[in-house]
Amino acid sequence: MAAFGTVFMPEMVIAKFENNVWSEATFVDSNSIAMHPGAHVLHYSSTCFEGLKAFRHDDGSINIFRMDQNIKRMAQSSRLLNLPEINEQQLSDMIQSVVKKYAEDVPAPPGSMYIRPTHIGTEASIGKAAAPSATSLLYVLLSPVGDYFSGGGKPLRLLLANDGMRCAEHMGMIKSGGNYASALGPILAAKAESNADQILFCPNGDVQETGAANFILIDGNEIITKALDSTFLHGVTRASILSLAADMGMTVSERELSVDELLERAAKPGTEAALSGTAAVLTPVGTLIVGEEEIAVGSGETGPTTVKLRKALNDIQWGAAEDKHNWLTRL
Ligand SMILES: *Cc1c(COP(=O)(O)O)cnc(C)c1O
Repeated sequence: MAAFGTVFMPEMVIAKFENNVWSEATFVDSNSIAMHPGAHVLHYSSTCFEGLKAFRHDDGSINIFRMDQNIKRMAQSSRLLNLPEINEQQLSDMIQSVVKKYAEDVPAPPGSMYIRPTHIGTEASIGKAAAPSATSLLYVLLSPVGDYFSGGGKPLRLLLANDGMRCAEHMGMIKSGGNYASALGPILAAKAESNADQILFCPNGDVQETGAANFILIDGNEIITKALDSTFLHGVTRASILSLAADMGMTVSERELSVDELLERAAKPGTEAALSGTAAVLTPVGTLIVGEEEIAVGSGETGPTTVKLRKALNDIQWGAAEDKHNWLTRL
């Protein structure tokens, strides 16, 4: 199986913002786009993206998960980056039309079609370091993906970073390219020096998130995660897992979680931790690395509540459970 995100459908759908209006969306070859080398995005990182998935059900229908939430977040990212305002209805139509075009190629569970809307500032002006791009491109790429857990789903090792930040504080809730470049140095160092899979960024002892996924702690009947603020990415998977946990009668605590509290709770038997995101769904965390010390979370193995929550989410996505919250857009 090819690595996640390396296979693309031959065409994508694209719209252009020029002279203050959006063009009609059209299908074009997904192999390349033409852009001036002085384009705003290439110099000043005026870029944001989304990640969502379409699923094939047993009845043959194709269903997109929580598309409205991803579109809203892309509109918010574009606004916060001073990119042209997107037309949410147009983006919704673009996503649905391209997924429909490649409906035959949507893999059956546990695979899915990963959908990557992207918005970039294209104005050729290297003088606009402190001014927005007047033009932009919005396109939607498709990439069929397999089971993220085919690697065995071994619980992850996270290095706790008390000092570093993933990105600038006011950029946290924007799904923007520069944030990942910003986190890459620390993540590579953590891999090399601590054999960690990811960094759990905890600026000033506040447990935040990893490079591309939210962090969730499960202690008995309580599920704990950082309350929404502008410093981190508001994951759709996070919100969905919290809803499902509430449906199961769990206590949902969205609040500050300090490193001290995390370590204290992690050491207890039965505690579980996981990362949530569209690609990984809910990936168990087995070990927290603090300096030279390694602390197992609960048993250090995948916990039953993590499995139960992941299954509850997958069952809705795959059409094996009722879509009570109306999360699916059926094509
Ligand atoms: C995309 C992303 C997430 C997860 O968001 P989902 O909507 O659940 O996919 C979490 N953190 C970061 C930094 C992300 O980029």
